[in-house]
Amino acid sequence: MNIHQVAFEKSSAKLSQCPEANKPEFAFIGRSNVGKSSLINMLCQRNKLAKISTRPGKTQLINHFMVDDTWYLVDLPGYGYAKVSKDQRRTFKGMMLNYLEGRSTLVNTFVLIDSRHEPQTVDLEFIRWMGERAIPFAIVFTKADKLGRNQVQSNIATYRKTLLKEWEELPPMFITSATEKEGREPILDYIAAVLEQTKQEF
Ligand code: GDP
Repeated sequence: MNIHQVAFEKSSAKLSQCPEANKPEFAFIGRSNVGKSSLINMLCQRNKLAKISTRPGKTQLINHFMVDDTWYLVDLPGYGYAKVSKDQRRTFKGMMLNYLEGRSTLVNTFVLIDSRHEPQTVDLEFIRWMGERAIPFAIVFTKADKLGRNQVQSNIATYRKTLLKEWEELPPMFITSATEKEGREPILDYIAAVLEQTKQEF
């Protein structure tokens, strides 16, 4: 699959403000600075579609982009940032969890994980939260170019092992680098497959 046309549709502060739920939706989420904007821009082959953040936690809205008049790409606020107050963090978190649990047309969420790090509690907790609610997700390992091939594989093996302690099945996983444009096709093909699987619902 390829992407031809991407149009920004709307930024929403909460679920009830989101566009009408009439198209399949793929969300992207991760800790701030994980490389989410870079990945979205790489997938869409645009430079500035999702703003590459200079200040962590700056994008705190649910951003809907219409892709080829067929599906929504949704850029969700980053989690785990430190530079906002506890109250603000709670509000964003509530908004995000509400969206993930309540958005009927959400067919997949890409959970971004920095491939350089050991499994982090904040990510594992988020994955657990998704799994417990059976919200479909896939894991995208980012910034693979920053490590050697073997190190990436070894970190992902550790991730698999960690998840298998709690879960019988692993989600789909993708290795990406925005700078090297790695992982674009597998992700777009996965999106195409999910669109095909869910087309009767729309
Ligand atoms: P976001 O906060 O999750 O949207 O992250 P950004 O896309 O703004 O990226 C955070 C930082 O990581 C920026 O300095 C990017 O240039 C850098 N970055 C993002 N993706 C990659 C990647 O695949 N490879 C490398 N080497 N750097 C990346």
